Amino acid sequence: EFALLNGSIIERSEAKVDVEDRGYQFGDGVYEVIRIYNGKMFTATEHLKRFFKSAESIGISIPFTNLQLKEMLQELLIKNNLETGNIYMQVTRGTAPRNHLFPTENVVPTLVAYTIKGVRPLDGLKSGVKAILTEDIRWLRCDIKSLNLLGNLLAKQKASEQGCFEAIQHRGQDVTEGSSSNIFIVKDGTVITHESNHLILKGITRDVILDLCTKNNIPVQERSFTLVEIESAEEAFLSSTTAEVMPVIEIDGKKINSGIPGPLTRKLQDLFKLEIEKQCGV
Ligand code: PMP
Repeated sequence: EFALLNGSIIERSEAKVDVEDRGYQFGDGVYEVIRIYNGKMFTATEHLKRFFKSAESIGISIPFTNLQLKEMLQELLIKNNLETGNIYMQVTRGTAPRNHLFPTENVVPTLVAYTIKGVRPLDGLKSGVKAILTEDIRWLRCDIKSLNLLGNLLAKQKASEQGCFEAIQHRGQDVTEGSSSNIFIVKDGTVITHESNHLILKGITRDVILDLCTKNNIPVQERSFTLVEIESAEEAFLSSTTAEVMPVIEIDGKKINSGIPGPLTRKLQDLFKLEIEKQCGV
């Protein structure tokens, strides 16, 4: 197995960062996950664009171009012989004596990428998953794909301890997103998901789904919706790079509609699969 560290592809076991790396100490960095199907990157352009944007939004300048990074990731994929799985990458502000202030000179960002094998979550996609509701206690820049994920981790752990796949977060009455996914509902035949603002991560999968809706004349609304609306939804599903279009069949022990994945969810799953085939030829 190989990993990418600051522009070099080296043995994964040799890829080490310093104890004073700012990612390690402060979570001072951003990350990205790209899904690999059939040895090919899915929506790579969008993920790389978001990676550079996240970094820029916290004042980290990635010392490579988008194209250079893409080529290095491609090489890593081939070296690791990855068929199905993910590429994880992160960039931190670099290594410097611990201080809240940004380091001033000669500190280069630490950029790491490696691959993870992993199959599609077929059981969940087929049968649907359960979720809980939990108050969104995160900061107010959820649009940045920051390494600081404590709020998300606490939410996901709580869901898992209750036998659920995901925690759907809400600020007061307004539903925001999952701990590692975006959330959609179907109401009166319209697909609804939170507008992209500082309260959610603008998921790449979310964007693909919205696009598929528009192209297939499925009505969509990007707006926040309430706890009452999700509890009475006709259908609900989650989206993420790894979970794809994941039906939600139960929330806090209460069934969504009849407790089976709904017809629009199924349709979007089919359309999404076609999109994977189109890009990656699965
Ligand atoms: N929201 C959060 C908080 C996430 O961690 C993720 C997963 N990256 C998403 C939404 C979904 O984003 P994407 O579709 O780009 O994976």
